[in-house]
Amino acid sequence: MESTPYYFYDLDLLERTLMAVEMNTVSVPYKVHYAIKANNNKKVLSLIASRGFGADCVSSQEIMWALDAGFKAEDIVFAGVGKTDAEIEFAVRREIGMLNCESLEEIIVVNEIAEQLNKNVRIALRLNPNVNALTHEKISTGLAENKFGLTTLEFEELIEVYSQLRNVEITGLHFHIGSQVLNMSAYEDLCHKINKIIPRFEAHFGELTYLNVGGGLGIDYENPDENPIPDFESYFNVFKNNLDIPADFPVHFELGRSIVGQCGRLRTRVLYIKRGAMKNFAVMDAGMTELLRPAMYGAAHQIAKMNYGIEEEKNVYDIVGPICESSDCFAQDVILPELKRGDVVEIKSCGAYAESMSLNYNGRGRIGSVPSNQVATSLRIVKSA
Ligand SMILES: *Cc1c(COP(=O)(O)O)cnc(C)c1O
Repeated sequence: MESTPYYFYDLDLLERTLMAVEMNTVSVPYKVHYAIKANNNKKVLSLIASRGFGADCVSSQEIMWALDAGFKAEDIVFAGVGKTDAEIEFAVRREIGMLNCESLEEIIVVNEIAEQLNKNVRIALRLNPNVNALTHEKISTGLAENKFGLTTLEFEELIEVYSQLRNVEITGLHFHIGSQVLNMSAYEDLCHKINKIIPRFEAHFGELTYLNVGGGLGIDYENPDENPIPDFESYFNVFKNNLDIPADFPVHFELGRSIVGQCGRLRTRVLYIKRGAMKNFAVMDAGMTELLRPAMYGAAHQIAKMNYGIEEEKNVYDIVGPICESSDCFAQDVILPELKRGDVVEIKSCGAYAESMSLNYNGRGRIGSVPSNQVATSLRIVKSA
């Protein structure tokens, strides 16, 4: 019996997804950075790096993973509202492509560290565009109430003190409005805000040479089999059609979920079926520790029973994990072919924010992953680091 639970990765689908991104960006000077935090599985990272993508990191550990996987330092961007001094020093020493700074104090610290290292550091300002991403409140980042990016107040203060900051050069702008964004009008709004901000930026900081519009494009969690590859064409068209910049101006993107989300699945086995007066529970060997999104965001994933016969009877289940929390529930009242102890189910769309968000809570160890593609016919279990 194959050991469960594990993450299954369809590297063929990942490759086709990367090709779809490439097809929609070949004719424009766009650079896509893969957001490492969505999934830092080594096989996944190496494949993405091998196709020439950049990396978007939010910690020095992620920068190390990116470098190890083959991403070039100059293609790495570093964002995060709470970078430590050690992380900034690491990024400056490694000469990564861009530091996206999120507060005035952070910029002052970067300047100090750069001075100590006798370096001149190019940085971009992450601004909060106050755009409603029309997504779940917990993954929206571009509203004035969110903690991300320089506030308008600090932007004004920065203008006052910039001439004293001798070791940083403010060359560009960075934005990121949120995640699982499916309504393209949010990105249109972002473009219009950017068009207004560029002249204000240039009035105080000189010519803009770097523009990063972030990521956040969503995936179809309801119909993952019908829509395995996101609509990159509509997404990139919004920027092609709405940004008021010269045609040869490079634009940087940071896509995570839309690149890896659909290529991963979580396979988990039924430990027990518990029958009740009100409902049946299928208690699985994976829980919120392996897939946190339902417990944290109320996210819904499609669930299917593996290896079942067409004529099997169906029943209604709550699919729950073994963790001592009532929020440890993958889905309520789902109709599935009759489940019994030992059956394996597959939770779809687990390529993004599943393995990378896994927890040790309840003494859980990290589970393995099975990367697969058409070339490799035999599946190998690879233990994650
Ligand atoms: C998380 C994050 C991303 C990627 O978001 P996705 O929704 O996975 O595309 C991009 N940029 C920044 C700054 C982030 O924090």
